[in-house]
Amino acid sequence: MLQRLKMFFRKLFALEGGEFLCDRCKYNHPSTCTVRERPNVRVCADYKAK
Ligand code: SF4
Repeated sequence: MLQRLKMFFRKLFALEGGEFLCDRCKYNHPSTCTVRERPNVRVCADYKAK
C-alpha cells in the first residue's frame, strides 16, 4: 500500500515537473485534437495513451 502511494506521488510530481500529457497521447496532432492548449496540456479528459 505504502509503495503504491509512493509511486502515485512520484508519477504526479513527474507530470508537474514539465512533462506534458500530450507528449504521450495518441491524439497529439492538429487533425485529431482541437484543444487549444495542445500540446502543452497536463490534465485532459480526452487523453488516450499511444
Ligand atoms: S486529447 Fe488532450 S492530451 Fe491528447 S493531445 Fe489533445 S489536449 Fe493533449
